[in-house]
Amino acid sequence: MHSPPSTDATAPNSAPEQDVSEPVPALQTPLVVASPDAKKENEIVAELSVAIETGHGLRVLYQPILDANTRKIRCAEALLRWQSDLLGSVEPDIFIPVAEAHGLIGPLTQLVIGRVSADLAAAPHPFKVNVNISPLQITEPGFPEMTAQAFQTRGIDPSRIEIEITEGAMLADPASIPAALGMIRKAGFTIALDDYGSGFSSLGYLRRFDFDTLKLDKSLVIDAVRSPQARAMLEATLTMARSLNMNTVAEGVETPTQADVLTAMGVDMLQGYFGGMAVEIQELSDFLSTPDQPIVRRKHA
Ligand code: C2E
Ligand code: CA
Ligand code: CA
Repeated sequence: MHSPPSTDATAPNSAPEQDVSEPVPALQTPLVVASPDAKKENEIVAELSVAIETGHGLRVLYQPILDANTRKIRCAEALLRWQSDLLGSVEPDIFIPVAEAHGLIGPLTQLVIGRVSADLAAAPHPFKVNVNISPLQITEPGFPEMTAQAFQTRGIDPSRIEIEITEGAMLADPASIPAALGMIRKAGFTIALDDYGSGFSSLGYLRRFDFDTLKLDKSLVIDAVRSPQARAMLEATLTMARSLNMNTVAEGVETPTQADVLTAMGVDMLQGYFGGMAVEIQELSDFLSTPDQPIVRRKHA
């Protein structure tokens, strides 16, 4: 899904736009791709602990989220990247679950929050950032207040941050979710339901819990273009989201056809290789400072 740091960190901003009408293959296969066995998992734990302590090899990149109608950048999602000296490039889908299982997710999230707040504080153009929060942390007492304070210390109002929570969080601890979401909102953050449609998604969640944004999983995006039935289901979801005043974001939008179909269906925002992969804050700032904010069509990230 992503390339090593050297590739995008050095990519000139004037690089020609890439044609992303077809899915873009990753430049280099990461060394760690499958679910780790016990030995590999121990290595990840040991290496990740050091990386969190030193900050070495961990980067936060920002994937643009476009307004579907204007195709300009509206906000960005912070995505963690880890390049280990020993293990090479490790996918977040591998190291995040390991961090969750071994008590490292708290410090890892603190690192992400520290980087995002520093990046936003230094960015010449203010923009809103979506931050992924592990289901384990949502219900942690004091988490919303501490997180809000971390941003405020840098002069960043929490309203500039949208907390992304996956459906998994709803299932992990359903009884304490309403109160936890209430505390997050009270601390000033907005809240997105992430990966909607990837699992046991139920329209019931949308009514029961008060989300600001609904992020439609990439599997829905792919199906919506291919199958009329899937399109009808997506339409029902969008109608529900609208009636509940939720913004909608289509994830994993890779082609102009997908972008156009989803825009015609009334999706508010588009995220995916169509709009650009995750980039360094500097690169995102450069795009934001160009007067007409061209669509970011960057192959490398
Ligand atoms: P996610 O939150 O659903 O993030 C979107 C993932 O889709 C990212 O994968 C992104 O690179 C990928 N993606 C974006 N556009 C496209 C596209 O057009 N096509 C396809 N096929 N994929 C696309 P990534 O960066 O590998 O992250 C994987 C997951 O790891 C994330 O899924 C999120 O759940 C988790 N993650 C990443 N950063 C963090 C973090 O800082 N904290 C936590 N707790 N989780 C994180
Ligand atoms: Ca997310
Ligand atoms: Ca997602």
